[in-house]
Amino acid sequence: MDLAIVGAGTMGAGVARVAITRGLAVTLYDAVPAALERGAQRVYEALGRGMRRGRLSAAEHDAALACLFTARNLDDLAAAPFVLEAAPEDLAIKREVFARLSEVCAPGAVLVSNTSSISITAIAAGAAHPGRVAGMHFFNPVPAMSLVEVIAGHLTDEATVAAVMAMARRLGKTPVRAKDTPGFIVNRVARPFYGEALRILAEGTDAATVDRVMRAAGFKMGPFELMDLIGIDVNFAVTRSVYEAFFGEPRYRPHPIQAQMVAAGALGRKTGRGFYSYDDASHAQGEGHAQGEGHAQGEGQSKGDGQSKGDGDAQR
Ligand code: NAD
Repeated sequence: MDLAIVGAGTMGAGVARVAITRGLAVTLYDAVPAALERGAQRVYEALGRGMRRGRLSAAEHDAALACLFTARNLDDLAAAPFVLEAAPEDLAIKREVFARLSEVCAPGAVLVSNTSSISITAIAAGAAHPGRVAGMHFFNPVPAMSLVEVIAGHLTDEATVAAVMAMARRLGKTPVRAKDTPGFIVNRVARPFYGEALRILAEGTDAATVDRVMRAAGFKMGPFELMDLIGIDVNFAVTRSVYEAFFGEPRYRPHPIQAQMVAAGALGRKTGRGFYSYDDASHAQGEGHAQGEGHAQGEGQSKGDGQSKGDGDAQR
């Protein structure tokens, strides 16, 4: 095993897909068995699609699939030299995962979090060897986004940082070091992009108009289509995390519209409904726009699966 991934959702499955196509043996784990199956299925489907579209040969497809393993028990990750946590954006959950990983994995294993905003120092406090813990922040969709923010916590060893940078390069990504401050760089800068868009929506301008205008202004995606891609729950959790980390700084205040959408289960593409509706939920994790959580100026924008219906289709 080269890499273990804890959390088989949007990001865990995305990183798994990239890693196996580069020949790393990956074990995917999720606390929810159905989510593990869905995550693995998403990887199979994406690889199949890639083969049909000529992006990888049948031999490459089969070789990649042979690298993917699933684990129903966290104890099965004991042999992992490198573990990426991609569980929900919640400090208590992440701390618990790192405490369990500390019991299960070798003391020398590198343990990284894909958190979008939470303090790596705080997450590492749950681990037995905080020097081996770092942040490794991938962007969504992982196959399309080359940036990875690499974050050292207060106690992170330089050797750990070097191992994370090396893993990012092995995955074909471009690692950039960021400080352990709320939201790091990209998600901090991007908070007002979402917050002001939500306020404009509340004042009566529809989402499709805002998205269209922002694209016309040069952004690769508008804020609402980007929130649908990220997941409304994930985007809301990141905003809350940054707001709380800055002790209630009004600039980062979350908007009730997002709280209401989360309560309604309108989480964006992954549930088939968010600011837009998606006619086929199986496309919810497709390869539409190449952007990441909080990333308003990413690389390119392909018109693939899961594309929003466009004007006049805003849900709120
Ligand atoms: P997601 O909701 O799609 O997936 C999270 C998965 O974690 C689910 O499958 C869930 O069953 C599983 N899970 C819950 N509790 C767990 C536990 N204790 N142990 C193991 N698995 C558990 O979320 P996501 O969008 O993949 O986000 C995961 C992390 O990546 C978050 O920290 C998020 O902030 C970050 N992130 C998200 C994006 C994005 O655009 N969605 C981009 C960059 C980073």
